[in-house]
Order: sequence, then C-alpha cells, then structure tokens
Amino acid sequence: MAKTFNIQDFFKRFPTDDSCLEHLMATRYGESLDCPKCDKHGRFARLKKLPAYSCPSCGHHIHPMAGTPFERSRTPLQKWFYAMYLFTTTRNGVSAKELQRQLGVTYKCAWRIGHEIRKYMGFVDGDAPLGGKPIVEVDEAFVGGHKKRGFGGKGKTVVFGMVEREGEIITRVVPGRHEFVLVPHILENVYPGTRIATDELRSYSKLPEEGYLHGTVNHSRKEYVRGPVHTNTIEGFWSWMKRQISGTHVWASKKHLPKYLAEMEYRFNLRKRPELMFELLLQAFPKP
Ligand SMILES: [Zn+2]
Repeated sequence: MAKTFNIQDFFKRFPTDDSCLEHLMATRYGESLDCPKCDKHGRFARLKKLPAYSCPSCGHHIHPMAGTPFERSRTPLQKWFYAMYLFTTTRNGVSAKELQRQLGVTYKCAWRIGHEIRKYMGFVDGDAPLGGKPIVEVDEAFVGGHKKRGFGGKGKTVVFGMVEREGEIITRVVPGRHEFVLVPHILENVYPGTRIATDELRSYSKLPEEGYLHGTVNHSRKEYVRGPVHTNTIEGFWSWMKRQISGTHVWASKKHLPKYLAEMEYRFNLRKRPELMFELLLQAFPKP
C-alpha cells in the first residue's frame, strides 16, 4: 500500500496560505492559460492585496477560490486545507467541536467548514451506477429518533443504501420503506440484470419483474447467509455509520444527514485506497 500523507508532509506541501492559493490556481487553471477576456496566452501574476491573479496583457482578474468550498470565506485557506486533511485521516469523522479546537476558529465557523467539506466530498465521490459485479446488497437503516431500538420509532429517519460487494456504496435519505419509495432508487442506480441481495422486506419482492436477479435472506428466521446471498457488507456500513453519528457527532438532523452520509460514502468508497483520500480532494475542484 502506498504511504499515506502525514502531518509533516502536509506542512511541507502547504506551508502558507499563499502556497494553498497557488495550488488552487495551478490545479484549476494550469501554470499558464488563455485569458478568458483578451484571449492572449500567458502566465497570470499574483496580486499583492487580493487572493487573485491578473492577466499580463489586459489585467483581467481570476479568483481561484471562486466555485470552490472556500469561496467568500474569511477563514485562511491553509485552515481549510488542514480541515480537509483531518477529514481524510480520521476513521470516524470530525466533529465541529474538534475542528474548532484544531483550527482555532469559532464553533459556528467550524460547523460551516465541516459541512462545506462534506458537501465537497459528496461532489467528488459522485454516484456512478452499481452492478456488473457479482452482487449488490440493498438495505434500509433507521437513524436518530427517540426509541432506542426497533423500526419506525418516533422521529427516526430512514436511510436507504445500495452497495456493490467489494465496491462502492450509494446512500439516500428516504421518506419511508415502501416499494414506490425504494425501487426507483434501485432502477436509477443499479444496472439491470444485476443480482441483488436483500432481506425479506416485501418492498423488494417485485425486483425480478424489473429485470434483476433477486436473492433474499430471512432475518426473522435467523437466516443470514444463503450461498452468495447476504447483506453483511451493507450492515457493516450501517453499524459504522451509527458509530460515527453517535460517537463523533452525537446527533445528525434529518436536514443535515445527507451531508454526513456523503462524507461516509467518500471514506467507504476509498477504503482500499486511503492514500488517495486527501489527494483527490486536492485535485477534484469544480472546473472553472
Ligand atoms: Zn487578458
């Protein structure tokens, strides 16, 4: 396995706010570029008083932070980069309290930075369709609410998940467990013809009619594995998800849950390539 980026590597590569801005400019625009205003090719020069660069021919300004999570932020860029680094080096996520401590910013600011990074992780992760590999496991989980155990407790949020065994996961916060709620997500995200493993929930009974191979395990009869059919991968994800929510964040509201899920998906999908976790975030900014 390739060596992961450590804290010394971080400060060597990004010693200052300026070095972070230079990185943004170089990855998003290249070392030299065709000016969008005068069309002349050239190497843009860093402005002294603004986090921006200007065209050597016409003076047109380019702001490398525009369209990134750091746009319009007054928090120094190095703190943002360091926050992204923290998100990619922890197993169970980073709480706002932890960011506040590590970055030396207010709680409100730390909270915002955390959510912007989670949204960005979701953007970078994307949702490529699943299937084509042997089997996709599909399941639902309940998050939050007042009742500790059991389904359908008051205030609980339903999360739907689809994971390719040995592959990627896609999650969605959904309004319930009905067939008409769950099946469209499968149709949208899983290639037809894929073998899908589920528990015995009735909502999945028509998957064969939709062109999928369907295998079930009957958990209520204590059956957990039937040949290649089991839902252990997704259940492993659920328990990791619950550990992160209750252990790191204490609580995640329905409104913000999709962002926490995006973060968890990102980390889960790169579980076998941890050395890419930070690097991808550094390279995958939206195209200008
Ligand atoms: Zn120009």
